[in-house]
Amino acid sequence: MEGLDTKVQYIKGVGEQRAKAFEKLGVTTLRDLVMNYPRAYEDRRECRSISELQFGQMCCVSATVAAPARLSRIRKGLDITKAVVVDDAGRMTVTFFNQSYVGRNLIPGESYIFYGRVAGKLGAPEMVNPVFERESSPPGVTRRIVPIYRMTAGLSQGRIAAAVRAGLDACGDLLPEQLPRAVREKYKLAQTRFAYENIHFPRNLESLELARRRLIFQELFVLSCTLSFMRSRQMEKDGRVITPPDMGRFYAALPFTLTGAQSRAIDEILSDMSSGRPMSRLVQGDVGSGKTMVAAAAAYAVAMNGRQAAFMAPTEILAEQHYKSLGELLAPLGIRVGLLTAGMGAKARRETQEQLRSGEVGLVIGTHALISQSVEFSDLALIIADEQHRFGVQQRAALTDKGDTPHVLVMSATPIPRTLALIVYGDLDVSVINELPPGRQKVDTFLVGESMRQRIYNFIRRLVGEGRQVFIVCPAVEETEEQPDGLKSVKEYARELQEKIFPDLRVALVHGKLRAKEKNEVMGSFAAGDIDILVATTVIEVGVDVPNAALMVVENADRFGLSQLHQLRGRVGRGQHKSYCVLFEGAGGDTATQRLRALCRTNDGFKLAEADLAIRGPGDFFGSRQSGLPDMQIASFISDMEMLKTAQTAATELLAADPELSLPENAVLRESVDRLLEKNKGTMN
Ligand code: ADP
Ligand code: MG
Repeated sequence: MEGLDTKVQYIKGVGEQRAKAFEKLGVTTLRDLVMNYPRAYEDRRECRSISELQFGQMCCVSATVAAPARLSRIRKGLDITKAVVVDDAGRMTVTFFNQSYVGRNLIPGESYIFYGRVAGKLGAPEMVNPVFERESSPPGVTRRIVPIYRMTAGLSQGRIAAAVRAGLDACGDLLPEQLPRAVREKYKLAQTRFAYENIHFPRNLESLELARRRLIFQELFVLSCTLSFMRSRQMEKDGRVITPPDMGRFYAALPFTLTGAQSRAIDEILSDMSSGRPMSRLVQGDVGSGKTMVAAAAAYAVAMNGRQAAFMAPTEILAEQHYKSLGELLAPLGIRVGLLTAGMGAKARRETQEQLRSGEVGLVIGTHALISQSVEFSDLALIIADEQHRFGVQQRAALTDKGDTPHVLVMSATPIPRTLALIVYGDLDVSVINELPPGRQKVDTFLVGESMRQRIYNFIRRLVGEGRQVFIVCPAVEETEEQPDGLKSVKEYARELQEKIFPDLRVALVHGKLRAKEKNEVMGSFAAGDIDILVATTVIEVGVDVPNAALMVVENADRFGLSQLHQLRGRVGRGQHKSYCVLFEGAGGDTATQRLRALCRTNDGFKLAEADLAIRGPGDFFGSRQSGLPDMQIASFISDMEMLKTAQTAATELLAADPELSLPENAVLRESVDRLLEKNKGTMN
């Protein structure tokens, strides 16, 4: 054996053909094989005698084959093998479909253990397609807790288990103890060998639990060590020194006075960027707290130093909007602002790219288009990612690569627990903007059912009469087959509203399938006040700023995540007008209603996040979107939060004592950390 890097192909009973199948499961080496943990288990320990069997029960039966099995061919493609088996006091039929070979393995007079579901008639029990093995053989697929693995074509459960068994045997003492002894003892964790044995072939439920606990800890611990390691390497790098310019000029150009929280965040950023170390800072602030100006201040400082900043926004609408407002702010201060999106014309895009290469543009605002290969900077010193949760770690890394260790500023309205922030963002410093600009009013939020629809329409009419504007958001773009009935198709709905309900008002529609130019036109007219009611999908979810809009109506609100709804609600209440949010409940069930009620109770995004966490677990923060979370073999960021905290504490303690993991007792751990670093090269920061 050449150790854990041995190819699975050479494990007893695997071979070239099955090795290919294993590769589909991500298993190429012996290490992968023993770390290919079961996804579930089946407890097959219960044994019964035939006379005790109850219909529907899953259990083992020890019985002797009474007579040779009979094979009958029912029709082409269907044959049945039947055998009668007996124990001291009863008889049972075992039936196999399309397994003509089993007859040969059921030798009359021999005793076997059968495991399966009890079927048949009263007094004539039967098992269909049971698994079985000789009574004299050690427990394999019966009489024990059996692992269930992820499957792929060409590998049965039995094959996988047999390969793992052979793998574990081949490992002998090779399985390295990744956890330093002191850590294992302090946190009362099982030993390596025991853990790997019992995660695959648990002796009993207690052993399984001990094994799981140890392996989950190990995975999170290695991850935590790796992240801290990357962080300290990052800290060793030289950052670009940005000398704080005369900020008074910038502040004087603003149409308002910054809040204390905004000023604090800006000071922190300026101090980071002048420190000589690369900045990694997260600005967390509720919707409407004024994060854009904080970013603008950072970009101003960078541009005044003759360097460049790139501001990445999640949608074209948002990029355009930032481009417009920041351009108006910064141009008079002598800073050229550029725009780069996929939707803009090729000519304009080339022009911006040219100006980025020459260094003419000091701040570029754009979408994912910024990452594209053809974009080059003359001196990129700061990247800003707006609404961070919309970007994967990879995308941010790709942008970072366009500069020489640029400073990184990420902005998010989604407060996530510190433990997870550490994982998703690497270890960032955090500035919290915990104060809204003065004069903001609470957005009154109502949860309503269908019976209120007419009254809501009257309300819309009244607000528009007062000169206000209204958003109506629907979850679907078009009627499609997968969508259950009752979902409002936006197109259909917008037409109906215009023709039947509000023929005298100006109704328009915007959705993600429109071309960028059309989208911008509609958004432009809405911002200019030429549209009364804007029917939209969630393309308007983030950042869009129309101070005259005073009502947000959300159809089928149960279909949205809580943080998404909070974002949507943040589209109103941005001006001096009293604003409202109306949520049509839809048919989401109890949990949905509970979540929606939480939204009615508070306008505080941080409190909402806590409520959501309590109701649904942290999964919803990231939703189905690219989460930026690394792939885990066994740990779950949803159910193992407590363990994550413990592992992070343990990692911090250990690294404080041995920052380079150079002590002999940490050598194996160091190897694991290096392996993880190698695997995630360029994607973790
Ligand atoms: P978010 O944090 O959600 O990105 P924005 O940066 O879009 O918030 O700011 C929301 C609105 O508040 C914008 O219209 C912005 O011009 C305004 N704003 C930002 N800071 C202040 C302030 N200090 N005083 C008054 N209005 C402000
Ligand atoms: Mg914003």
